[in-house]
Amino acid sequence: MESERVFNFSAGPATLPVEVMEKAQAEFVNFRGIGYGIAEASHRSSAFEEVIDGAEANVRKLLGVPDDYAILFLQGGASTQFAMVAMNLMLPGKPALYADTGAWAAKAVKEAKLFGEVTELYSGADSEFTHIGDATQWAIDQEASYAYICSNNTIRGTQYHFFPDTGDIPLVADMSSDILSRRLDMSRFDLIFAGAQKNLGPAGVTLVIMKKELADRAADTVPTMLKYSTHIDKHSLFNTPPCFSIYMVGLVLEWLVETGGLEEIETINETKSHALYEFIDMSIFYQGTAEPGDRSKMNVTFRLPEEELEALFVKEAAAVGLTGLKGHRSVGGIRASIYNAMPLAGVSTLIDFMADFEERHG
Ligand SMILES: *Cc1c(COP(=O)(O)O)cnc(C)c1O
Repeated sequence: MESERVFNFSAGPATLPVEVMEKAQAEFVNFRGIGYGIAEASHRSSAFEEVIDGAEANVRKLLGVPDDYAILFLQGGASTQFAMVAMNLMLPGKPALYADTGAWAAKAVKEAKLFGEVTELYSGADSEFTHIGDATQWAIDQEASYAYICSNNTIRGTQYHFFPDTGDIPLVADMSSDILSRRLDMSRFDLIFAGAQKNLGPAGVTLVIMKKELADRAADTVPTMLKYSTHIDKHSLFNTPPCFSIYMVGLVLEWLVETGGLEEIETINETKSHALYEFIDMSIFYQGTAEPGDRSKMNVTFRLPEEELEALFVKEAAAVGLTGLKGHRSVGGIRASIYNAMPLAGVSTLIDFMADFEERHG
């Protein structure tokens, strides 16, 4: 079966570890001897309780999340978090600071403006969002409600390699496309969220890691389901959670622990992205689009000399088992998403194909 699988470079939903899917397949019909599947189990059952508790414990273990932070598994995708963050954290009369590093940050700004004033902390517009620079140098208004960044721009292929020092102002980060891809100093962050479908599992669940005390800010007018405190109080079980997606995320987390944790996955991600960027930099046929110092280790974006060649590249790649390489429709070009679950063999097969394609068309 596995030999028939292709290398899937899709930006999300994205490739999952084969071992994880095989484990899910093996226990799909009868979960660990209970006589029925986890997709059929009550979210109040002890079987599911073990699943969600195990997932939470592994998030804490992998990232070193302290006890004063809550771990939540919510619905509505990362896009619902754009609004929830502002609804819950915006303080009256105090602006929120947003760094605009591209489309996902811009969408978050749009939602935040519904609930208060937004001040631009940084704008990548002048550089066509190919640049982030040294965020440690950004001045942070200590009267602000919070500061907000998107740690990895999935579309443009940029990623923060330095985070702003926000002092006493809470730092919020959309880590949808690079969560658990590298070690992280949790003490720098007050709220992190990530849709699961890039680096954590299938679509349907959004991970939120937040300092519990931040939830106290929300006004009484915030709807129950959109209040962080509701989900903190009920341990993500206020209503029926996306049980099966949480189970799959749990398996991915176990796989990450078995792989050697974040230190090991960071090294592997380093190796994969380095190999690909090194190849691109040695070629004059392929051109990386992001500023070298701000390049993403998750989404590698590049261009070919002509759009017709890019279309042919995507087509020929798919024919040899390398799929999902078309760049986001808003920017064009090529994008190779090489999340945690993309094996090194996928990247080296892609590089071999790129060399061959250049030889034939360059
Ligand atoms: C994919 C993505 C989103 C949107 O996630 P949804 O779960 O589809 O709402 C938000 N932010 C980033 C950085 C993403 O990559």
